[in-house]
Amino acid sequence: MSASILNRESWLQEAVGILEPIFSAVGYGIPPLKVSCGFAASSSPRTTLGQCWPRERSGDLVNEIFISPKIDDPVEVLDTLVHEICHAIDDCQSGHGVDFQGIAKSLG
Ligand SMILES: [Zn+2]
Repeated sequence: MSASILNRESWLQEAVGILEPIFSAVGYGIPPLKVSCGFAASSSPRTTLGQCWPRERSGDLVNEIFISPKIDDPVEVLDTLVHEICHAIDDCQSGHGVDFQGIAKSLG
């Protein structure tokens, strides 16, 4: 993918808008969030495809999602984005626990 980081970020933000009704349909509203393309400081760039930060860590009190610029496949990007939005919905409270799985499962 040769798109610039900036284009990719507006693409990601647009994707959130497209996913919104899908999440709403199963009863989960997407909280206000910022999606960025990049690595979070504490993550390993080799293994981390995405990361979601809890609201209290953000100055704007929104969830911040980072998507690794290493992912080239748009399907994989969306996959990762959906995964991280699931974290944003419970504000990263349950990790990959029961709540998380409940949200992920109802999305199919
Ligand atoms: Zn996760």
